[in-house]
Amino acid sequence: MSPLDADVIVAGGGPAGLAAAIGAAGAGRSVIVIEPRVGVIDKACGEGLMPGALAGLAALGIDAVPGRDFRGIRYRDAVDPAAVADGDFPHHPGRGVRRTALHGALLARARAVGVQWREGRVTGVEQSGDGVRALGPCARGLAGRYLIAADGLHSPVRRMLGLDGPIHGVARRFGVRRHYRRTPWIDRVEVHWAADCEAYVTPVADDRVGVAFLFDRPGRFDALMARFPLLAERLGDADAVTAPRGAGPFRQRAKRVVDGRVLLVGDAAGYLDPLTGEGIAIGLGTAAAAIAAVVADRPGRYRRGWRRATRRYFALTGGLLWISRSRLRRLIVPVARRLPVVFDTALRLLGGRGPDALPAPSADQASAGQRASSQASSAS
Ligand SMILES: Cc1cc2nc3c(=O)[nH]c(=O)nc-3n(C[C@H](O)[C@H](O)[C@H](O)COP(=O)(O)OP(=O)(O)OC[C@H]3O[C@@H](n4cnc5c(N)ncnc54)[C@H](O)[C@@H]3O)c2cc1C
Repeated sequence: MSPLDADVIVAGGGPAGLAAAIGAAGAGRSVIVIEPRVGVIDKACGEGLMPGALAGLAALGIDAVPGRDFRGIRYRDAVDPAAVADGDFPHHPGRGVRRTALHGALLARARAVGVQWREGRVTGVEQSGDGVRALGPCARGLAGRYLIAADGLHSPVRRMLGLDGPIHGVARRFGVRRHYRRTPWIDRVEVHWAADCEAYVTPVADDRVGVAFLFDRPGRFDALMARFPLLAERLGDADAVTAPRGAGPFRQRAKRVVDGRVLLVGDAAGYLDPLTGEGIAIGLGTAAAAIAAVVADRPGRYRRGWRRATRRYFALTGGLLWISRSRLRRLIVPVARRLPVVFDTALRLLGGRGPDALPAPSADQASAGQRASSQASSAS
């Protein structure tokens, strides 16, 4: 293999990619992130960071992200004002955080620990016994010992490697979100259940709430809002301060999460649905597991690490998704209300301290990463 540009190349600079980059730099590895978009990136997201996501961020050395704490979840019927169920996380609150604030905090941390960037897209991957080359961002591509594919839900790297898994017999679901200038009326994430669509309201600042709709029959934002009269009433004449931003279809599978020296993390490794608001926690957890395998020089270990980091998410989200698509859907709010033990159990699972997290990089490790990065850059 020709000289390395970095020990670890990361395709995609979203939360999972930056978490992997910070983790690798913290372990003394040189890292280059390849990302087509420059600076702080916004994205369709419900913006509710569950306690596990906050623990994952703290492990990366990110303790304070601007936002607003929420202590649990409220389920309510979209039209019946009396049908309401409240639940709290057992130990730590979650936090509503604008996606731009989250990305800005990850970017700042990545820069501080010496992560390097190349603007562009990965358009091809070549592997040899001892390395991998990401084609696209520059004429001869970038060579590393490992490639972390963190290029999102519709991962081009996953597709290039023939790793797209089959999706059978499931209606496609989509999401769209926007923000309103409005004092939050509740210190929980509020989930409104309509007949065939959910609305998530997340407090993200003292004067701002985010509204995300999840659905399988696309419609304009206003048409979706019309299915939630109690929410529309709550918002009143509050100004919409962002344009609608959408994403989907959600459900994606990877045949494998490791292919030689390529490790898939975050949404790229497979995703079900944002129903339980765990995408960021999963992105951080899978990134941590992938870097642990890379640092041990045992990429195959990541299979187990990925399963451990995602098992609970797939069980909880898969179960809720199944119920929500069955005739039991209309019982979700009444059951959560009348059987608080069921709701509390779900919140205990959601409120856990999260999947395997990386130790925060020490100052020594950070400067080692910085040194290695500049050596690798000057060699390239
Ligand atoms: C409507 C909605 C609501 C949600 N609500 C929540 C919530 O409340 N809480 C929560 O935790 N999660 C939520 N999620 C999920 C969460 O947003 C995702 O799980 C998370 O963004 C995944 O991060 P990622 O880094 O894997 O991917 P992304 O954030 O998608 O980042 C992928 C990056 O890869 C880059 N890229 C793409 N192609 C290439 C290429 N060829 N080469 C290099 N780079 C490339 C992209 O530009 C992008 O920056 C929600 C999602 C949606 C859609």
